[in-house]
Parts: sequence; C-alpha cells; structure tokens
Amino acid sequence: MSDIKQVLQDHKFRFNKQFGQNFITDTNLLQAMVKDSGIQSDDVVVEIGAGAGTLTREIAKVAKKTIAFEIDRNLVPILGQTLQGLDDKVEVVFKDVQKVDEQELDAIIGGKDYKVVANLPYYITTPIIMRFLERENKPKSITVMIQKEVGKRLTSCADSGDYGVITLSIALEGKAKIMREVPRYMFTPQPNVDSCIVRIDLDDTYSSVDKKSVKKVIKSAFAMRRKTLVNNLMSGLGLSRESVEKALTDLNIDVRARGETLDIEQFIALSKILL
Ligand code: SAM
Repeated sequence: MSDIKQVLQDHKFRFNKQFGQNFITDTNLLQAMVKDSGIQSDDVVVEIGAGAGTLTREIAKVAKKTIAFEIDRNLVPILGQTLQGLDDKVEVVFKDVQKVDEQELDAIIGGKDYKVVANLPYYITTPIIMRFLERENKPKSITVMIQKEVGKRLTSCADSGDYGVITLSIALEGKAKIMREVPRYMFTPQPNVDSCIVRIDLDDTYSSVDKKSVKKVIKSAFAMRRKTLVNNLMSGLGLSRESVEKALTDLNIDVRARGETLDIEQFIALSKILL
C-alpha cells in the first residue's frame, strides 16, 4: 500500500474533528492492537470507524470477515484505495453506527458470534461500549483504543477514585483490562490526550442476575459521591434508613460505607435484598 498520509493528501482529505478523526498509521501499533484483541482466523469482527482503513486492513489479515462502520462519506474513495483487493473479507458500511437500530445491526453482523475491535471516536466512547455490552446479541469481546482516563475508569478496582457506575456496569458483563498505553504522538492529527487499549472479555457469570435491579442500585449508590451509601440508597430507591441499614448489616457492610468501596458481588447481594 502506498503511504497512507500520501493517500490522504492525494485525495485532499480534511480531518473532521467532530467525528473524532485521529488516525493511526504506525503498522507496529496496529498489529499490536490486533494481537491484543485476540482475534482468530474464524472470527467475524465489527469495527466502528474505519477511517483510512489502516486498522481494518490489519484486522482483515487475521479475521474471517471484517464489517467496518464509517460515518464520513468523504472517506469513500480513500477506503476504496486502501482496502483494494479485500472485497471478499471486508465490508464497509457507510452509516452513523448510532443511527443503526438493533435489528439492522444484527442483520449487518449476520450471526451470533462476533468481536468488536475499534479505535473509537472519542465523542461517543462510552455510549458505544455500553451499547455493545448491553445489547441482546453481545460480542465475545470488545477491544478499543480510548482515552487513557476513560480506560482507568473502565478497569479500576473498588475504593479508587476512578471506580464508578461504568466500572461496575462492565463488571456485570465481563472482565476489562488495559492491554497497553498509547502516547498521543502515535495519532494523526495528534489529540490533546494520551490513549490506551482496553480489552473487555464478556462472560455469562451473572447471566441469571436481575441486572436491571443491580444497575438501579449502583446508579443510586453513586448519585452523590460525597454522600454515604445509606443516604444515596434511601433517596435513590425511596427506602427507609432502617431497611437500608439492615440490608448492609446483614451483608457485613459498614453502614458508614460509601458506594465506591463495594465490589460487584456486594452490589448484586444488596439488590437482591433491597429490590
Ligand atoms: N480506525 C481508524 C484508525 O484507527 O486510524 C480511524 C479511527 S478514528 C479515531 C474514528 C473514526 O470513526 C473516524 O474515521 C470517524 O469518521 C468515525 N466515526 C465517528 N463517528 C462515527 C459514527 N457515529 N459511526 C461510524 N463511524 C464514526
């Protein structure tokens, strides 16, 4: 392939900040990300944001099929060039993935087993991760390049400042791990923040749990960071002090505890008693 920066220049491509267009051109980094994702030769991969197709090409070298969404139609001729010869392995869907409903998404993916690999547009990082985590037909894993600070929030442990609703929502669906940190100078154009690659392996540990109730309890527990768990649960769930304190005591949790000190198992146990 000719130099990607030259291809972009030849097509007079203008990066659109609004779409979170920070591309990766370094082949070593792209290959490292594919390795981090653990994709295999029989995998179907969904990529969000093909950009100039640099990551798409590396995924396609390993995966059986790659379905890449891209919102920006200015990239049509560029992707036509960079993905040349990969028609049988790569399908680019020029759509805003957020406007593709669940039914259409399933029809495009065309099966039950798939993995998500993406250098995500920063402006919709969390909604995209949450959508794939919570949808009916879940991926087996999600490997994403995201802002370093967000990566910490997804993977932190109880009792740390980064721990919160999103950490616990992920813990309900699987295990998240930071695979590597990526400095800002690896992107074109260079963003103002550093990034990291996070991999979430989904599992069904909590498939029989009433996740809706657990999430309600978690959301209430973190409504006001300065408040104690008891006060947050009382106001968020409309419960009496006595019932909340009794539930905590039954579970050997200090009644003065704050939400960020509880792990997912404790939230599940709490929701079983309270809701
Ligand atoms: N994968 C490429 C790479 O690694 O160099 C590009 C990554 S860039 C951070 C994010 C890409 O997502 C951009 O090409 C952008 O146009 C695209 N994008 C942004 N919002 C999107 C959306 N809602 N649906 C589909 N693609 C989107």
